[in-house]
Amino acid sequence: MTLTTEQHTIIAGAIRDIPDFPQPGILFKDITTLLNDKKAFATLMQHLSDRYRGYDLDFVAGIDARGFIFGAALAQMLGVGFVPIRKKGKLPYTTVSEKYALEYGVDEVEMHIDAFRGIKDARVLLIDDLIATGGTAYAACNLIDKSGGRCVEACFVLGLEFLPGKAKLSTLTDVYTVIGVS
Ligand code: AMP
Repeated sequence: MTLTTEQHTIIAGAIRDIPDFPQPGILFKDITTLLNDKKAFATLMQHLSDRYRGYDLDFVAGIDARGFIFGAALAQMLGVGFVPIRKKGKLPYTTVSEKYALEYGVDEVEMHIDAFRGIKDARVLLIDDLIATGGTAYAACNLIDKSGGRCVEACFVLGLEFLPGKAKLSTLTDVYTVIGVS
């Protein structure tokens, strides 16, 4: 299930473009203007819950930090648990972690070792606000796998189609972007 033209117009129209943030040359997609627009936020969440209701999910896993907003709301609508995938050093209990390369240096994402509550092959939907190079989501998907879960799909509100992130992540899991940015 993909968006109707009307849903696309409502959601895409609520996202604000901020040029040169956080550095020159980056067009930052600001989703705060979608979150504070009750019609646009509800349209997005209704679409996501309609899409994923039949996926028989056990968990929705959201990527730090904007993935938490959409992920937690969606998990609640679907009646499943929510799992935060955090940047290194934030989670208090024993974690599993996965490193990934940045343009300069490396970063790391972590999850609690018992996040999937012992459910074997837990069916997990991964969610974040945006996929760019795909590095973060690729690491998050590997992390779900390492923790005994199965990433059945990765979902993003926005996909930057001029970058290879979606193609890269598609080697690990199905990828759905609500709005494509060309
Ligand atoms: P990447 O690992 O390159 O796919 O980067 C994805 C992460 O960086 C997501 O969590 C996004 O929130 C953030 N991000 C990257 N590029 C942008 C952008 N142009 N606008 C807003 N957020 C971005």
